[in-house]
Amino acid sequence: MQPMFLKPVFKERIWGGTALQEEFGYEIPNDKTGECWAISAHPNGPSIIENGPYAGMSLDAIWREQPELFGNPKEEVFPLLTKILDANMDLSVQVHPEDTYAKVHENGELGKTECWYILDCIEGAEMIFGHNAKTKEELVEKMKEGKWTELLRRVEIKPGDFYYVPSGTIHALCEGTLVLETQQSSDTTYRVYDYDRRDAEGNLRELHLEKAIDVTTVPHQNAGVAPKVEERENVTITTFVESEFFTVYKWEVEGKTAFEYNNHYLLLSVIKGDGTLVHNSEKYPLTKGTHFIIPVGLGEFELNGELELIVSHA
Ligand code: ZN
Repeated sequence: MQPMFLKPVFKERIWGGTALQEEFGYEIPNDKTGECWAISAHPNGPSIIENGPYAGMSLDAIWREQPELFGNPKEEVFPLLTKILDANMDLSVQVHPEDTYAKVHENGELGKTECWYILDCIEGAEMIFGHNAKTKEELVEKMKEGKWTELLRRVEIKPGDFYYVPSGTIHALCEGTLVLETQQSSDTTYRVYDYDRRDAEGNLRELHLEKAIDVTTVPHQNAGVAPKVEERENVTITTFVESEFFTVYKWEVEGKTAFEYNNHYLLLSVIKGDGTLVHNSEKYPLTKGTHFIIPVGLGEFELNGELELIVSHA
């Protein structure tokens, strides 16, 4: 058994930029590259395995055909999706449904609870997180009257911050933000407000107000997170969130440190530094922008170097 390294998939977005190339050295398709789908089994952009016996296979195929690598899971589809987002411009204000609503209204898609680790941002960067309406009526009224400044809450962000964004939370990344996102494997977004922007042809992007009103949590619930920090030999482990959908950690490795996980498969993304992963005396180079999966039953592995990783499991 081997760790599985993944080839990222890139998505053009009108709000995208070039940070994925500048920061991570990825070969991006153009200068409006907004998303790197780093660990994905979603049909809109599945990752391909780069090494070992499953090289060339997509993650969704392995999920179906080799369930033992994932501990013979109950879920029908791979539940998580890891992305890096380059918000070079403001994203539209949006909200996502939870599982039951998505299943009924979006062809069996999963709902979308997500979370963000702020990799980098400009000085004074903000994001939209929540709203000020006390009742659904007030929400509808403010939306229909276009009173967005009154309605939307803005928070200031800085690198290293972590936000948990449950389904039903109105949110938007703003200009100058680079984020690692861990989310349920879903591509369903209801657009609430797009700043009345027009594309090159003069068209507004479609809004989904009815569905957005259906799924928005009123009043806004602040899902505050309280990170737990644990120091071990040569590694600091920060647990950001343990929810019904995912658990997300940051591992800060300095030197050599051994891990063993027998109950979960792990999704790992190197966000800083260089080093190696050693397993069964096999050495795998790790560098910023490397994404990989540790299957269930891999046994002990060792990380060596100066590394920061975001790690998650379902
Ligand atoms: Zn979102």
